[in-house]
Order: sequence, then structure tokens, then C-alpha cells
Amino acid sequence: LADKLSAAFKKLKSKGKLNETDIKEAMREVKLALLEADVNYKVVKDFVKNVSERAVGQEVLESLTPAQQVIKIVNEELTALMGGQNARLVFPSKPPCIVLMCGLQGSGKTTHSAKLAKYFKGQGRRPLLVACDVYRPAAIEQLKIVGEKAGATVFEMGQGDPVKIASEGVKYAKDHGHDLVIIDTAGRLHIDEKLMEELKNIEKTVVPNEILLVVDAMTGQDAVNVADTFNKALPITGVILTKLDSDTRGGAAISVLQVTGKPIKFSGIGEKIDDLEPFHPERMASRILGMGDVLTLIEKAQDAVDEKEAAELAKKMKENSFDMNDLLDQLRQIRKMGSLRQIVSMLPGVGNKIDEMNLDDNQFTRIEAMITSMTKAERAKPSIINPSRKRRIAAGSGTEVQDVNRLLKQFEQMKQMMKKLGGGKKGKRRMRLPP
Ligand code: GDP
Ligand code: MG
Repeated sequence: LADKLSAAFKKLKSKGKLNETDIKEAMREVKLALLEADVNYKVVKDFVKNVSERAVGQEVLESLTPAQQVIKIVNEELTALMGGQNARLVFPSKPPCIVLMCGLQGSGKTTHSAKLAKYFKGQGRRPLLVACDVYRPAAIEQLKIVGEKAGATVFEMGQGDPVKIASEGVKYAKDHGHDLVIIDTAGRLHIDEKLMEELKNIEKTVVPNEILLVVDAMTGQDAVNVADTFNKALPITGVILTKLDSDTRGGAAISVLQVTGKPIKFSGIGEKIDDLEPFHPERMASRILGMGDVLTLIEKAQDAVDEKEAAELAKKMKENSFDMNDLLDQLRQIRKMGSLRQIVSMLPGVGNKIDEMNLDDNQFTRIEAMITSMTKAERAKPSIINPSRKRRIAAGSGTEVQDVNRLLKQFEQMKQMMKKLGGGKKGKRRMRLPP
């Protein structure tokens, strides 16, 4: 999918302006790509229509290329489709909060019951896990093992009646001051009536505050049918999308949402007890787009770089009047985008390589400290900084004289480079930071 989309957007990149034909062409490929990611056909059709309509009428922001503009629109629409805001569990004013887990066998119910217990324990709750998968003795054992990892009490009554165990579990929780009850249930390989009846009976008996449908993100199109059936049988309140650590693009997320209309509340991102995250629609959108977090980067860049400031900077570059105050401004703008590591990690293709890079945010901090230790006159005209001034700046910023020397030298090099760039085409705003 990533390749497909990159190809689609590359076609746009070479063109100066976004027009109807460009969008149509790119959207045809986006459509294919989404279908390949296992998004439901009807969902894809609506989506492509929406995005095309929005894109055609829209101006291309000056700070973005036409391709980036389309990426931005596609991303916004995908995010909106997946629920915009992050959803959370709703805790009742009168405890306990009862959570019923349901889903097919192997989707991750037992694992995620324990993950949720650990997650909410970390938020000061006292969770109780209830073992209602009574068909295999191993299932109870499994819940005990993961429950222990979560540091949560497990309530079990062996292979008895699941409905009774659920209600006894809730009673136990009330008697023992547990404010969160998570009921793990049995799944089948396929949906069957008996299983649905059992879940309905548990639901009627304990009246859960939340019914979470656990869906394996790797199941693709099947997820639509599963979600539809469970949603029709039970008043689902949300979805947990598991196995997002796999290389699935997660098209299931879009389909499940569209079919059930229920929010995805959590994502499972691994087999370990801590591998649980609140669901982030905007991250999921980028993932489905398959472009790393490049979208986030575009948005952050847009926030950080004010058009007017940029124009002013271009003017200064042209007049060669760029000084230390401007450098400080630039530095602060870049830092607004996040830590150096965060910024670099969002670039496509960086991935694991980031661990090999030497990304030292302290370097930024030191430069900022040195500049703020300079007087107004020194910042405007660094050439007046003589050895005694250097010593003062170093002392004031907690650095060494050689650090000040290095900064001054880098600044001089930057100025030279800007002189060249600034003399070039109007509107070109490229900046370099000291290495
Ligand atoms: P259940 O039958 O619905 O209770 O599913 P389980 O909780 O027993 O999980 C089935 C398998 O999927 C187990 O081997 C889990 O370790 C694995 N699993 C569950 N969630 C995740 C996840 O988020 N990522 C990965 N990689 N594996 C998972
Ligand atoms: Mg299980």
C-alpha cells in the first residue's frame, strides 16, 4: 500500500498546481490502495468521493506542495472517519464499572482483559478479572497467568455456568472494593448461536457499563462480518483493535467503524502486558496511508512556520542582515515541533535507524543558552565578540569558550550560505542549522 500511495502522490509532485484531473488520477490509486488494505468497498467509495470534492475546490497552501496538500486532505478525512477524538471508557458514578469482553477465539480477549486491568491499575483503579471462558480448563489457567502479570485478582469458579460466574464475580467485586470488573468470555472460531445466547444472557444478568468487542486487525474483510454480527446481538460500546504490531495496514479499523458506528477505544500492539494504547485515529490514518508520520510532520511544520515570519526571514537573507536574534527565533520554531529525535523519527524511511543516530537535544539547548547570554549589541553584530566577551558568554551559559567559538564559526558559515540562497528565487525559504 505504501508503495502504491507513494506512486500516486509522486505523480502529483511533479506538477505545479492541483487540478481536477490530477486529483482524479491520484484518487483512483488511493481507492485501489484502500481496497488492498481490506477496507470495505462502500466505505472506500464514499471516502474517495468526499476527499475529491474537498480537494478540487481547495487552494494549495503556499507552504505545501500540491502533493502534500492532497496528503493533508486524505489524512484529515481518514481521521474524521475513524472517530476524530480518542474515546475512553466511561466509569459510572457508582462503582464498579463492569466491562464485558467479547469476540472470536484468538482475537485477544484474555490477553486484553489483563492489559486493561494493568492499564487501569496504573490509573489507581482496583480491577478484578472474571474467568467466564469455561470450556477449556487451559483458558482459566491462562487468565490466572496474565492476571498475575497485571497484578490483578482473578475470580474463577472452575468450569461452571458462565452466567452465574459473571454475576458472582460482580458480587465479589462489590464485597471486596474492586471498582472495575473485567469479564473474559469464551470465543468460537466462527460465530454461532449458542455463543451469542450465552453472551446475551451474561449481558442481561450483569448489565455491563461497557461491552468491548475485541477484533484482530489482521482479519481484514472478515472483521466486517464479525463486527456486524456481534453488534446486532449485543449493545457494543466500543472496539479494541488488536495485533496492530503486525504488518497489517489496518484497513479493518475503517470497516469496523463504518459498520458498527462504535468507536475504537484501545489498540493492542504486542503480546506483552504493557502493549496497550488508547486508540489514536490520526496515527491510524497515517498508518493506513503507509507514510510513516509524514503527515504529522507536515501539520507541525505548518503550525510552526508562520508565513509572515518566513517572508521577513527571506528578506533578511536577501539583505544579509540575518543575526543571532533570528537564529534564536529559528531554533525556537524548530523546537516547537518536538524534540530532535521526535522530528527525525517522523521522516519516512527513518524507522529503526534512529537508534544509530546521534541526536543530541542538548546541543540545541546549549546554543539557545549561549545566544541568550549575549547582549543585544552582540546578537545584532556577532563580530564584536572579543575574547573577554566570549569568556563572559561561556560563563553565563554554562559552556566553554570553545563552544562559543564553534557557534560563532557555524553562524558565519550559515550566513555565507544564506547569502547565496537569499539571492536566489523569491519565495524560496530553505534554512540550515549548524550541524
Ligand atoms: P482469546 O482467545 O480471544 O482470549 O485470545 P488470546 O488473548 O488468548 O490471544 C490469542 C493469541 O494472540 C495469543 O497468543 C496472544 O499472545 C496473541 N495476541 C493477543 N493480542 C496481541 C497483540 O496485540 N499483538 C500480538 N502480536 N499478539 C497478540
Ligand atoms: Mg481467551
